Amino acid sequence: MTIPRELLLTHLLSQPTAPFREMHIQRIAREVLGAAGVPCFADPAGNVIVGVGSRAEYQSLARATSREPIRLLIAHMDHPGFHGARWLGATRLAVTWHGGSPTRGVNGARVWLADHNGYVITGRLTRARIAKSGWSIERAEVLLDSPLKPRPTATSLFGGFGFRAPVWRSGNRLYTKAADDLVGVFAIIATAIDLFGHRTRTAPPFIGLLTRGEEVGFVGAVAHFELGWLKTARRPVVCVSLETSRTLPGAIIGKGPVVRLGDRRTVFDPNGLQVLSDLAGQVLPEAHQRRIMDGGACESTAATAYGLPAIGLSVPLGNYHNQNLEGGPGTKGRHGSAPEFVDIRDIAGLLKLCRALMRPRLPWDDAWFAQRQRLKRNLRHHAKQI
Ligand SMILES: [Zn+2]
Repeated sequence: MTIPRELLLTHLLSQPTAPFREMHIQRIAREVLGAAGVPCFADPAGNVIVGVGSRAEYQSLARATSREPIRLLIAHMDHPGFHGARWLGATRLAVTWHGGSPTRGVNGARVWLADHNGYVITGRLTRARIAKSGWSIERAEVLLDSPLKPRPTATSLFGGFGFRAPVWRSGNRLYTKAADDLVGVFAIIATAIDLFGHRTRTAPPFIGLLTRGEEVGFVGAVAHFELGWLKTARRPVVCVSLETSRTLPGAIIGKGPVVRLGDRRTVFDPNGLQVLSDLAGQVLPEAHQRRIMDGGACESTAATAYGLPAIGLSVPLGNYHNQNLEGGPGTKGRHGSAPEFVDIRDIAGLLKLCRALMRPRLPWDDAWFAQRQRLKRNLRHHAKQI
């Protein structure tokens, strides 16, 4: 990755974010894209739409007659975290949790708090109550390190698990409070800047969708699909979820991005996957992986539910949702909170694959042609035996 790209990535990873509190990521995305001359706008749900400047441009790109599918690249701007609910004392804040989390050893864990201006203060989590599902915290209290003067309204604050810094690098690893899914957001912004830097006269068949509230059920993506802007499309659309996904056997951190064959809910479009898999074989012959990433669900499931062909790319993620699954600096035992981490080489590979997906004349309408020819040759070889 080039230095400016890595700076953009660490800038994004440094920002506070939580479900429905994505304002800092939205702002940076719009600033960076604006400065690079990439059109963007917000849809009515506050998702950032990249590559087109308005609903009218979005729909005219979708209505253009072309065999080139629109690549709708999707990543989410939120990460599990909490919202302030009410003050219980000068330094005691009741909070509600949104999204996944560690469920053991969380009392006493360090947290950061922010508002719409940025980071405000740090504190510790206490009296955490685990949701009935057993998967995450439901509510808790935060003990602030010192009283805030003047005291802001409780609901203006939000936060998440905090560590020695919002982001730091150690060898090829980036440790951070939240790689999921700011790495995907970064990949979409970087791909758009590349694409619009070599702009031809026609708009590229690209739309980036940076969503809100993914961690509580793909809320931003669903709100976007509900708008129905793609219903009038006259050309194919292929959705590509870009995620950081819990590392699993066969999806090892540092061995390259993963061609995501499916998630916890569903398998993905076999035609699109064939195109993606062939591309990965060409672009990253020894440096990509393929598997169903069923450690979590992703926005390709939402796209599939809306009848859109969807595929996915994942960067293997350590300590998914800040659960201490893989250990790391400052973590103790198997429980409690931990910084997420990713490998910078996997991110560089992800950028290469995103760029390759934008190549013109890929065989989207008959991705299995070459395979069918191989199968036919084999049939001819064995013809006498049937
Ligand atoms: Zn995610």
